Amino acid sequence: MLLDQYVSTEETLRRLLRSRICTKCLARRGLDNAARKPDEVLACQAQCPIFLTLPTLTKYVDNLDSLVGSYDGVVHAVAASCPTCDGDVDWRSRHRRGCRPECPFRIYGHEVAHLLEEVGRRLHG
Ligand SMILES: [Zn+2]
Repeated sequence: MLLDQYVSTEETLRRLLRSRICTKCLARRGLDNAARKPDEVLACQAQCPIFLTLPTLTKYVDNLDSLVGSYDGVVHAVAASCPTCDGDVDWRSRHRRGCRPECPFRIYGHEVAHLLEEVGRRLHG
């Protein structure tokens, strides 16, 4: 049902994120995000870097050639320009530190990669 052929890859990912990751995400605490159905929009979605970059992640899932790289690499590459951690630059090295410790990408990145891989495998066989 989650991979209904009439549901887009992006919507499939969105539902899986909500049912597998959002349900335990620390960022939801204190928000009006009581457990709901996976197709319902959560209040924190608009500020979540995972949801904000979902169109990009979806493109990788739709097009990823397994020879090109891993989904962990995809998540790492997308998180490198994380929309909610942008500008968090180490003043000494002048390099980006990557995601802040509380960033959902930092906390759930590996699980997101698993989820992308799962959907990618079902798409491409
Ligand atoms: Zn981040």
